[in-house]
Amino acid sequence: MSVNTLDTPIEYLKGVGPKRAALLRSELGVDCFNDLIQYYPFRYIDKSKIFRISEISGDMAYVQLKGTISNVREMGQKRGRRLVATLSDGSGSVDLVWFKGIRWYIDKFQADVEYLVFGKPSIFNKRFNMPHPEVEPFVLKENAGATLQGFYSSTDKLKNRGLNSRQISKLMHTLLQRIQGEIKETLSKDILDSLSLISKEDALLNIHFPKDQNILQRAQARLKFEELFFIQLKLLKYKISRMETVQGHVFQKVGTYLNTFYRQNLKFELTNAQKKVIKEIRADLGAGKQMNRLLQGDVGSGKTLVAVMAILIALDNVYQACFMAPTEILANQHFTTVTRLFEGLGIKLELLTGSTKAAARKKLHAELLSGELQVLVGTHALIEETVKFKNLGLVVIDEQHRFGVAQRAKLWKKNIVPPHVLVMTATPIPRTLAMTLYGDLDLSVIDEMPPGRKPVKTYHFYDTKRLKLFGFIKEQIQKGQQVFLVYPLIQESEKLDLKDLMDGYESIQRAFPLPDYAISIVHGKMKPADKDYEMQRFVKGETQIMVSTTVIEVGVDIPRASVMVIENAERFGLSQLHQLRGRVGRGADQSFCVLMSDYKLTAEARKRLDTMVQTTDGFEIAEVDLRLRGPGDLQGTQQSGILDLKIANLVKDEKVLKYARTLAIEILEKDPDLHNPEHAPLKNHLFELGKNQANWASIS
Ligand code: ADP
Ligand code: MG
Repeated sequence: MSVNTLDTPIEYLKGVGPKRAALLRSELGVDCFNDLIQYYPFRYIDKSKIFRISEISGDMAYVQLKGTISNVREMGQKRGRRLVATLSDGSGSVDLVWFKGIRWYIDKFQADVEYLVFGKPSIFNKRFNMPHPEVEPFVLKENAGATLQGFYSSTDKLKNRGLNSRQISKLMHTLLQRIQGEIKETLSKDILDSLSLISKEDALLNIHFPKDQNILQRAQARLKFEELFFIQLKLLKYKISRMETVQGHVFQKVGTYLNTFYRQNLKFELTNAQKKVIKEIRADLGAGKQMNRLLQGDVGSGKTLVAVMAILIALDNVYQACFMAPTEILANQHFTTVTRLFEGLGIKLELLTGSTKAAARKKLHAELLSGELQVLVGTHALIEETVKFKNLGLVVIDEQHRFGVAQRAKLWKKNIVPPHVLVMTATPIPRTLAMTLYGDLDLSVIDEMPPGRKPVKTYHFYDTKRLKLFGFIKEQIQKGQQVFLVYPLIQESEKLDLKDLMDGYESIQRAFPLPDYAISIVHGKMKPADKDYEMQRFVKGETQIMVSTTVIEVGVDIPRASVMVIENAERFGLSQLHQLRGRVGRGADQSFCVLMSDYKLTAEARKRLDTMVQTTDGFEIAEVDLRLRGPGDLQGTQQSGILDLKIANLVKDEKVLKYARTLAIEILEKDPDLHNPEHAPLKNHLFELGKNQANWASIS
């Protein structure tokens, strides 16, 4: 295979060299030509438009000015030290100001040269100035061609080395000339034709140096499609090859366990959503392939029940099953729930956690090996080497985002034919994100709550309404209810947070004195045993109020807790607020969530609180969260690297994404290995992508 010019390390580009290369690497992650070519402008300015200085007004975005530069001077001391120069164009003058890179600019300007200046006007001492503008000699020729100029984001460190947007643009120009004729088409002809997409080469030329608005849009469309399409192609291809190579146990029959359970133990009608999901799971279990299914559903939507029914199917087919929870408290709770649900069925079930005693453990190991023990519930203690099953057929994992990929993989190695895997999560992920993050898993969604559930009533109070809040809490306690009071914990200021919490605790103690009231407190600085003790007091109902940081366990069921008060609610993210609210509303009584906040709120914080007040639908909340924060910050997505999109946007380009996925499925159905010569460009590009992303497929 010939050497690919695009793989050339970036220092070998004319105008870069080792020092700038090191910076490009550390600041932008640009390592080779191919990385730089994919460093797309984030905005375009219309170069044909040059403003007059007299036209500048207060609320302008970036503008382009043209004029001569005079009176270049250093001003101020220490941190106020700056370089100031005056730009004049006949209509007026404006000061250009640099606080950084003073050395670089100080002797750059000549009196008789006209300059193009690009920047954002701001007001200082009632006068307009322009901090850190980009300045270039005005050249008629250059201006005559393209009218749109790409604007690249840069960093302080890069700018100090002279790598501002214009310089990056120059490098791009050099690069495009250097790799002329070497940009390979990555999409097949039929895709290009049927979607009327422009070629890869045209797209790259025009994304950096667009001739006009129209061709720019076509370049963007082409590159967005390509980016999303290859993610889907890769995920789906991975899924197909897994299905081809990995066998699965076949659970053909529904037998006595499930039937008896259905007739005798199930006290209510399944929701339609539950029925649909169980059908999907049954189809998987009978297919002879390993099931890899992600089950999403809001807290309380009845996922556990679905899991239990899947376990019963495994037992009916004489396989063992295990049910794994992320914490000991949750494992205990699942154990209690499952024990109750299995009543009278004669199923042998045990609990295994870190605190299981050695003797009990030994017995348990033996019973697992003999097959006598049918179901094991527990924490990650389940995946220790010493735990061996006779015939493990199904693994249910609750709250997937706390389990590492490696941990799950360990479980799969426990048998030659790997067990079916059902992963459950109560953290809703918007569809577009799920398609991208879990595109190789099968996805089931419970989007319906059991009937009769009362949605949690949510209020937003400012701190001034504290007395009213306390009155309300007293009323609820009088009715026999319990109350959570949660304080934020933000790592950087742990000390401050703890102080907030302790101050809050004291004022709560004053407002709710002994002996009428008892209060539990739990925070991260406590010893585990003390935490557990306080937690248990609340669970047993010995205390009515639980003051805590967010350490209260995800998923813990306390049916009599009907009030969730969240202090400094503006400091929490949406998904966290939603999770916290999910701690209440699990019993039959009306529940409440009160979001306490300061008067001063950022627009984003206000949107979060408003969203919480308006809806209890986890998916709706996740959509808003995605819009507000972008996918990079969503829970569980940070490490994946998949969402490191160069140009596509999962919110704005949802339609493109759906289309890309559909097309990828169509292609792979007909040509799963991409053997068709027509698909050679796709195959080659997948290979290229794979070179730099060795761990990419391991997210499942
Ligand atoms: P999740 O695990 O999704 O948070 P659970 O399975 O724990 O939800 O269910 C929450 C509660 O709702 C449990 O008490 C469960 O018994 C009950 N429940 C589940 N499905 C139904 C249903 N179809 N009808 C009525 N109640 C249900
Ligand atoms: Mg649950």
